[in-house]
Amino acid sequence: MSAQILSGTEVARTVRAEVAERVAALAERGISVGLATIMAGNDPGSEIYVRGKHRAAEAAGMLSFDVHLPESVSQETVEATIVALNADDQVDGMIVQLPLPDGLDGNRAMELIDPAKDADGLHPHNLGLLLLDRPGPRPATPTGIMRILEHYDIDVAGKLAVVVGRSFLVGRPLAMMLSAKGVDATAVQAHSRTQDLIEHTRRADILVAAVGRPQMFDADAIKPGAVVIDVGINRTDDGLVGDVDFESAAEVAQAITPVPGGVGPMTIASLLANTVAAAERKAETAG
Ligand code: NAP
Repeated sequence: MSAQILSGTEVARTVRAEVAERVAALAERGISVGLATIMAGNDPGSEIYVRGKHRAAEAAGMLSFDVHLPESVSQETVEATIVALNADDQVDGMIVQLPLPDGLDGNRAMELIDPAKDADGLHPHNLGLLLLDRPGPRPATPTGIMRILEHYDIDVAGKLAVVVGRSFLVGRPLAMMLSAKGVDATAVQAHSRTQDLIEHTRRADILVAAVGRPQMFDADAIKPGAVVIDVGINRTDDGLVGDVDFESAAEVAQAITPVPGGVGPMTIASLLANTVAAAERKAETAG
């Protein structure tokens, strides 16, 4: 293996320490920072993820509010909960843990979140700000990826970035962030209907795999010297693996994120950063 390992675990530690400092600075002014999650049902994966968010928030000195609703909860109750948290002055960032149980409308729930409290950065208003290149909370996972690139001084300006996957959660906002003015990568958005996908990935200076198919890209799909960002989280009989065949890809790539320990830890760090930024904006407005 010759590639440099881009450790999201290490970068996330740095981001979380920065967030803790910002929370402490607000505390000195008598201002608390709070993160609330709303979860419905008992999906074990979601429960683990939500617990992780609360642990991280508390470790950063934030208040954390865990609203856990039953599987049988009505859409009205979910919406009333969001409206109440919008009005709660102690809550600066809010997350609706998706998916909601069958029969509930997750999109409608997300759209009810006050965009100023949108810790995930996925509210349509905030996605619009991203498109317009105006400040606002950015989607957490793509923000984490941009921070990894910045942390390791990977210059993407003028480079060809191929982003495989076009979800609103990862691929689409990431391609927008990579091609924003001042970042200046040439971003290509690939997806399941892309013809000759491997021909595209083989030309990529930066390859981002955000598909959700175990180890679909190996050395053959990667340009020698490329930077490889593996967003995929796939549970297999051999444990957790990414969308990239790490061993083989690491032979040709210049740098690569591992799974686990790559992009994953950055998502929580980014939503904490969105939450403290929301509290800072509120404090500024209040004078
Ligand atoms: P998603 O909504 O299912 O989107 C997957 C994307 O991959 C779609 O755009 C799909 O194309 C594309 N795709 C599917 N099969 C393909 C193929 N054979 N060739 C090329 N493109 C293909 O998934 P997501 O939410 O973006 O998540 C992607 C992966 O990242 C998952 O493994 C997820 O667990 C992981 N993830 C990780 C984090 C983290 O914190 N590390 C955060 C979020 C997601 P179409 O649009 O044409 O269907």
